[in-house]
Amino acid sequence: MAELIVLLGPPGAGKGTQAKVLSETLGLAHISSGDLFRENLQKKTELGVLAKQYMDRGELVPDDVTISMIRERMQRPDCARGAMLDGFPRTVPQAEALDAFLADSGLGAVRKVPYIKVGEADLVERLGGRWTCRANGHVFHTVFNPPQKSGVCDQDGSELFQRDDDKEETVKNRINVYFQQTAPLIAYYQRMNILVEVDGTKPIADVTADLLAALK
Ligand code: ADP
Ligand code: AMP
Repeated sequence: MAELIVLLGPPGAGKGTQAKVLSETLGLAHISSGDLFRENLQKKTELGVLAKQYMDRGELVPDDVTISMIRERMQRPDCARGAMLDGFPRTVPQAEALDAFLADSGLGAVRKVPYIKVGEADLVERLGGRWTCRANGHVFHTVFNPPQKSGVCDQDGSELFQRDDDKEETVKNRINVYFQQTAPLIAYYQRMNILVEVDGTKPIADVTADLLAALK
């Protein structure tokens, strides 16, 4: 694989927002594990039904099924030039499985891991006002990134909806899960010398510019 970037950060940091723009600019496939689970759920696949039990509680879907879903996704032709991973890996075993998979299949290694840093109070406010596009997972916010027409995606005209797991109780649990299970990845990628921290509290376009500079 020519290029592999992992976007790291808590729920609501802006990974999906930035991945949509950057993957297009850089010619990479955008792989969002959360979007893949939601697609499976919409199609009522076995994986989707299993994942829903965890997603509804704000917990992580077990590593084995998550890893095999991503492995399969990374072998599709649109990843030939590389990929930007958004929401995966989320645990140390997932990161280790990703490294092993890349090495075993001769796809190279993760090149850079931008860590989009945002504090907890901002995350709750962002997720509370998030509206997601049904067709392609584009994201908006009632205040910080409102769509031109309420309830309609600017990019593809599809319906916008509020995710069940963006309810306040679930958001709190997702943030706790992030600190317990995902935050250790900051040290994991720091040790590999590929982590680069980006201030995620700036306006969306400024964060995009900082990420592009960090990925040079
Ligand atoms: P993640 O994929 O990391 O969970 P999203 O990209 O879905 O995060 O963003 C969460 C919410 O915050 C969305 O409603 C989005 O419009 C908003 N948002 C994203 N980046 C910013 C930013 N830099 N400033 C303010 N709001 C933002
Ligand atoms: P996201 O769209 O990234 O906010 O993810 C939504 C939900 O999907 C999470 O709260 C988890 O339940 C599940 N999920 C997404 N990515 C992963 C992952 N890498 N490992 C385990 N569960 C995940």
